[in-house]
Amino acid sequence: MSLQEKDDIANEVIDKFKEVQEKKVLGDYRSPTVHVSHLTQPCIRRSWYDFHEPPTQPDYSSICNFFAGTILHENAPLSKRNEVPLGANIRTMKPIKSKEVTDLIKYDCVTGTVDDIIEREGDIVIIDKKTYNGAKKTLKEPDPDYVNQINIYKLLLHINEGVEAKYGCIIYLDKVKSFKDPTAFVFDLKPLQTIKEEVIRKLDYLKMTIEPDRTVTWRCNWCPHKAVCNPPMDLKGNWS
Ligand code: SF4
Repeated sequence: MSLQEKDDIANEVIDKFKEVQEKKVLGDYRSPTVHVSHLTQPCIRRSWYDFHEPPTQPDYSSICNFFAGTILHENAPLSKRNEVPLGANIRTMKPIKSKEVTDLIKYDCVTGTVDDIIEREGDIVIIDKKTYNGAKKTLKEPDPDYVNQINIYKLLLHINEGVEAKYGCIIYLDKVKSFKDPTAFVFDLKPLQTIKEEVIRKLDYLKMTIEPDRTVTWRCNWCPHKAVCNPPMDLKGNWS
């Protein structure tokens, strides 16, 4: 076999793998409902663009990240109740499935999938798995966005099942070490009324017909909407 033929086979195998990644990620791609993750990042304007600007296709790096995350979540259940889909109309406090959300109530409803739910000595704990790069990041406390995410799951779980989770737990898995030596943080969850008010405030922002204010952070560097938003990007790396 010539070198050229070997190269051709190698390229076909690589293309096949990329095709599998894309199919897995784009095939499962999120329906256009307000997802919990739309309400947890610091810039609500970014989420606003997700609904009010033409959709953007994720780039290949994002597809790879989603793909790795999907493999992890599909293969590491920590309890009988894992990958639990939840949806609710937050204004009426009624459960709803993602496929039942119409345009009319889009900004009233939130959907999401809880990684794992466990019950320990009568208390419910909501668990979320997060991957990170241990070579670049030192863990001291859980990321506030992730804490916020689990609080919103608490509200969704309460609306769907009438229970009140007491604790959140984030287990961090280091991609560089192939998930060796995980770190976990456990924290108290907020009162339901406080979570509800915060979620409704953000849903009101998403409903607006003009963009909410920018929240400029280092994340703007990777925002898919930075061209339309045009934030002050000259400060790359200096934002906390
Ligand atoms: S570029 Fe920055 S300020 Fe603008 S929408 Fe994205 S995250 Fe928000």
